[in-house]
Amino acid sequence: MLTLMPHNGSILIIRMSKIILFAEKLLPISSPPVEGYALIIEKENIVDVEAISSAEKRNPYAKRIKIENAVIMPGLINLHTHLELSGLKGKLSENMDFFEWIKELVKQKMKITKREYWDGVHIGMKEMISTGTTAIGEITSESISPYIINSYGVRGKVFYEVVWPSEFLASYIWFKKKREFKRFNDSELLHAGISPHSCYSLSKGLLKRVSEYTLKNEISLSSHISETEEERKFIKEGKGEIKEFMEGLGFNYPLPFSAESPIKYFKKLGLLRKNFIAAHAIWVDNCDIEIMKESSISVAHCPVSNTNLKVGKAPVTSFIKEGINVGLGTDSLASSNSLNMWDEMRMAYKLHRENGITPFNIFKMATINGAKALGLEEKVGTLEVGKKADIIAVKMPESSSGDIYSDLIRETKGVHLTMVSGKILYQEGTGWN
Ligand SMILES: [Zn+2]
Repeated sequence: MLTLMPHNGSILIIRMSKIILFAEKLLPISSPPVEGYALIIEKENIVDVEAISSAEKRNPYAKRIKIENAVIMPGLINLHTHLELSGLKGKLSENMDFFEWIKELVKQKMKITKREYWDGVHIGMKEMISTGTTAIGEITSESISPYIINSYGVRGKVFYEVVWPSEFLASYIWFKKKREFKRFNDSELLHAGISPHSCYSLSKGLLKRVSEYTLKNEISLSSHISETEEERKFIKEGKGEIKEFMEGLGFNYPLPFSAESPIKYFKKLGLLRKNFIAAHAIWVDNCDIEIMKESSISVAHCPVSNTNLKVGKAPVTSFIKEGINVGLGTDSLASSNSLNMWDEMRMAYKLHRENGITPFNIFKMATINGAKALGLEEKVGTLEVGKKADIIAVKMPESSSGDIYSDLIRETKGVHLTMVSGKILYQEGTGWN
């Protein structure tokens, strides 16, 4: 932005590239909440955090943005989404169990037009940005969402989904998927990864190819893992509802897989690495947890989807105790009614507070832990000097319990402002920028 200032009879042009952003409270996450402080943003970076009065004195020509009655904090990170399915909101009954749901999902997906996929991503993006999401871990099956997400200017990774449970035609399927993946040019904010859908929906040969290719090219991975108890049974014994479901789709496997668990199966195939995000991870035993820890993988915990599909409760407290990185994801609108991370945070707290999870733990999961899972912890997830300005402002809670994190989890529905890389994407009252 440019402004003109009179100076000794001449005109001086000053570039107002700095912003002083402040509100009643600042939650850096990396340190305790503070009052009376402002963030100084220059281009896309946070360049200073200092007392409001000295920030104003030292930066007289900066643009001043004061958000009334608000709390400023890092943007939220939604680690697991399928935005292309947003058009299915309300079309699948909420009273289904996982297998009824997935059968219905397959049927509904066959009816979706390209236009509906396209519209769904726009609907999803608007809901996410207007509720404070600044980075995502998106799974794309149609190669539509990456391009739309890029146009909205949020950060994150788009994982190209691979599904093919047979060795027959596996090389053709893999060739096609790699071509889609390579066609997407990584932008400054958005990078492509690969998502082998699950242990049961890809043949062993295809999983090996995915493993070798992503290892060689240092590509990030995201996969649904141990979402149901049946998945364990299928991997171990080669029977149960998953076998029936896959056979219903016309696929027969060379069974059993003779692995003790999905985590051990993926470990054997070399898929578990630091840049691997395990969505759900509900049915895991102590040995799996040990492997997850050793492999430094992250978990995308999706409590609303898990509750709706009645698949169980992930052992989040054990993960955290063992030092496993856990972030939060909303999953799709086919299994949840909301892409609002505040709903996810509320559900996560409700489910796990009895096991000692605190409101601050939930905030870390929704911010810095999500950043770590996406390999972005040096850039975002906290409000610190040197980080990118991915920031949101939310309404100050109306009632106070003395714990600001708890109050925000209880009351917050949307945001006043969403900023990514120093650019305001959404502002309440003003709308989309
Ligand atoms: Zn999912």
